Amino acid sequence: MVKRLSLDNISKFYALVAAEYTVYSPSQKGGLVSLEPKKYFDRYSLFKFQTIMPPKKVLLENVYDLESNPKEQKLAFFGIHLCDVKAIATMDRIFAKDPFYRAKRDDSLIVATGCQPTESCFCHVFGANKHQGFDLFIQEEHDGMFTVFAKSAKGVELLQKSKGKILMSASYQPIGQNQNEIDLSELTDAVENRRLFEQHWQGIANNCFGCGACTAVCPLCFCFDTIDRTDPEGGNCHRSRTDDACFFANFSKISNHDFRPENVDRLYNWYHHKFVRGPKENGDFLCVGCGRCITACPANLNIIRILSAIDNVFDRATN
Ligand code: SF4
Ligand code: SF4
Repeated sequence: MVKRLSLDNISKFYALVAAEYTVYSPSQKGGLVSLEPKKYFDRYSLFKFQTIMPPKKVLLENVYDLESNPKEQKLAFFGIHLCDVKAIATMDRIFAKDPFYRAKRDDSLIVATGCQPTESCFCHVFGANKHQGFDLFIQEEHDGMFTVFAKSAKGVELLQKSKGKILMSASYQPIGQNQNEIDLSELTDAVENRRLFEQHWQGIANNCFGCGACTAVCPLCFCFDTIDRTDPEGGNCHRSRTDDACFFANFSKISNHDFRPENVDRLYNWYHHKFVRGPKENGDFLCVGCGRCITACPANLNIIRILSAIDNVFDRATN
């Protein structure tokens, strides 16, 4: 189903969604735009630029007691972009058996919208600019009206209740893309071949602070730590889950042995997970080209330049 809605009716449509779901939508907070629970539509709800954090900040929240029963929730993500929608689809596969993830995701609703690419985006490289994976998509038209596409049964049910004209046909505007390109055809082989790029990785690691900012904002970084808290006086024990980062020095330490003792080992592991283990284990790269890691990095490290350089060297070495 497709409908044409005015801005006023989009605002009312938001209220319809909020009557049924806890809605997370881009919101202005402390001078930044972040994904926050919000009951009412405002000018940030269909924000064209990226939120600081992706939806994982809601779907993968820390769990205080892993033995407890997860509470089923009805969450809606309103106004998220297609790269974040694709990241959710990948997380759905990875966390398919995780009851705490499923309790938040199973009844959730995704209302996506278009975006404005920045110089850090490269979502088209991973096909993360395709119109798929959402329940509803809201497209702003040049005349100030909005076209709303419903793709799932729950999306259709909600859109039926909204005021607007049903359209017999409508098409998606292509999502704009910039010039950033990476050749994916040999990327996995190139990243896997650590020996060929030892100096390259070392050079990058020399400039990396190991701060983990890139992992915090990445929609497809989900390292966590489990912590046991015991009660010597016989009370309940708790096993909790808190987010962590493979960039942190103690992340790979087990029984006093550090499997990745140097910063270069941890940096390489991040790329290896995203571009080698990700496609092999999950059928897709653990990157959607959102560019958040570029924006967040205090050392100005740039994943596009790093991957392109590897691609080029690998190409020259093997051809
Ligand atoms: S690795 Fe960087 S560009 Fe890729 S999804 Fe994560 S934050 Fe976005
Ligand atoms: S944000 Fe930059 S400096 Fe910090 S860990 Fe990531 S790559 Fe290194």
